[in-house]
Amino acid sequence: MSGRVEVLLSRPVVGAVPAGTWRTERPVVDQSRCTKCGICWLYCPDGVIQITDQGAVVDYAYCKGCGICAAECPVKAIKMVREV
Ligand code: SF4
Ligand code: SF4
Repeated sequence: MSGRVEVLLSRPVVGAVPAGTWRTERPVVDQSRCTKCGICWLYCPDGVIQITDQGAVVDYAYCKGCGICAAECPVKAIKMVREV
């Protein structure tokens, strides 16, 4: 064994469907606060967050607006904003 652990993940998760127009709130990331810790990425049930050099980025085509990412972010860098 090499000691290296690899986890195969599909992003978005297998079976994820596009959010359509029914999402009532969307997560908005304040990149100036984001520490790129990856906790939102880990908790998002749809696997629609990527951690980039700029910080966390949400794929709004698949995000369901559940708010878990905002609730779990340790530095409160994600705000849920009402869809218009
Ligand atoms: S949990 Fe918060 S600080 Fe961590 S990567 Fe996500 S948005 Fe950034
Ligand atoms: S609101 Fe829910 S589905 Fe959308 S990015 Fe956050 S955790 Fe994922």
